[in-house]
Amino acid sequence: MDAPRSVTRATDTANAPSPRPRVHREYVAYTRKDLGRIPQLQRLPREEVAAMEAVAAVLPFRTNAYVVEELIDWSRVPDDPIFQLTFPQRGMLDPQDLERMVGLVRGGAPAARVKEAAREVQLRLNPHPAGQLQLNVPDRDGQPLRGMQHKYRETVLFFPSQGQTCHAYCTYCFRWPQFAGLDDMRFASREADTLVAYLERHPEVTSVLFTGGDPLVMKSAVLRRYVEPLLGAGLPHLASIRIGSKAPAYWPQRFVTDPDADDLLRLFEEVEASGLSLSLMAHFSHPRELETPVAQAALRRIRGTGATVRCQAPLIRRVNDDALAWAEMWRLQVRLGAVPYYMFVERDTGPRGYFEVPLVRAWEVYREALGRVSGLARTVRGPSMSATPGKVVVDGVADVAGRRVLALRFLQARDPEWVGRPFFAEYDPRATWLDQLRPAFGEGEFFFEPGLRALRQGSAAWKAAPIVRRRLAVHLESEWN
Ligand SMILES: *Cc1c(COP(=O)(O)O)cnc(C)c1O
Ligand code: SF4
Repeated sequence: MDAPRSVTRATDTANAPSPRPRVHREYVAYTRKDLGRIPQLQRLPREEVAAMEAVAAVLPFRTNAYVVEELIDWSRVPDDPIFQLTFPQRGMLDPQDLERMVGLVRGGAPAARVKEAAREVQLRLNPHPAGQLQLNVPDRDGQPLRGMQHKYRETVLFFPSQGQTCHAYCTYCFRWPQFAGLDDMRFASREADTLVAYLERHPEVTSVLFTGGDPLVMKSAVLRRYVEPLLGAGLPHLASIRIGSKAPAYWPQRFVTDPDADDLLRLFEEVEASGLSLSLMAHFSHPRELETPVAQAALRRIRGTGATVRCQAPLIRRVNDDALAWAEMWRLQVRLGAVPYYMFVERDTGPRGYFEVPLVRAWEVYREALGRVSGLARTVRGPSMSATPGKVVVDGVADVAGRRVLALRFLQARDPEWVGRPFFAEYDPRATWLDQLRPAFGEGEFFFEPGLRALRQGSAAWKAAPIVRRRLAVHLESEWN
């Protein structure tokens, strides 16, 4: 197994908390079965912990001792942003579902019954109708290439099969079917060869993005098996390799004290030396994740290899729906030599109601935060929805010819012709996603809809795909890691 060593051991922290933060060198994971034993949780009312256990039966839960001891401010729980980011909360399930799951879990129901009930709720939490596109999975001679996704002309996403977990899980993550063991929805590749072969036939691709899960849960030697073949392959069109990861936030030791940290940094250096650029697409949700000495050391070491660090995260109610938090985070990123890149809008899966922020509100947060930072931090784009036709940014609210409208624009699109074209929707302060917006000025549809229909109809592979695959496509539309 190349996954991080997951030593589940809560008892060694059961004594009085030490006055100074512990230096975490060994990765210690906490999962659902540890909830009753995490010392910091014992301060919460018993019913709260029971509710957390019930929610964790439905939504995947994983955190680690570094997150628990150094990132969460336990005096502010339950409102603490990192607690909301990583721990299951009762509001994530419908009251009836919660009651039922608490009954089963507390009543000591057999694991199989808990699992069966959980699965029912999971399928309901994934509310997508089957009408979404499946245009992203590339094929070779008509055979779908699993583990890859090619939605935008210049960039291929690659999901290493061994990178399908994370050092901790974000409670809002849309990848949860992968973690919750809905195996049909797993999407992975074992073969770097497949990737190289695909790139050889696709000279339009300039960038490969390794994503997951978190590719940096892999040991450096395993990651090397995926990355190295791209370096010597003679792919003149390839300009950059990106790795999406939340390790700089959840386990920065990966770059500093892990036994193969140096090996990882050497691999980054080799990518740069080969003439490609390496970007670490770091998922940071809150400034606190950048404040620890080990996180700062991690960024310094990564930058020391010549790699670039670009930062992105979704805007999440209760975690970071706060302009001051974003401004502070972008300032810290710039100070540490990283580049603020994207603010995403939370997508419509999982416990969405708990986390979602209306688009207008998201834009207000973005704008207010942007106004508080220097131009060096204004490289960040957002709030951006990774929707079926592409990445759509909310440029803002405007009054045009006596009408209040939302100005929108494609940052990235299925059809490159759509990129950069402004379009307008009727003002709607409650809308949380593109599909809830209506075209402004009495137009019947948005300019891209006829083209999207054509793409959809042309996709025979889509029509033939079983329902579960179509759902999967929705889950893989975008990446935060
Ligand atoms: C965001 C995204 C990319 C990368 O887009 P860039 O504009 O190159 O950063 C690639 N594929 C998918 C599916 C994406 O959501
Ligand atoms: S958002 Fe990224 S780090 Fe968080 S659980 Fe999902 S894949 Fe893992």
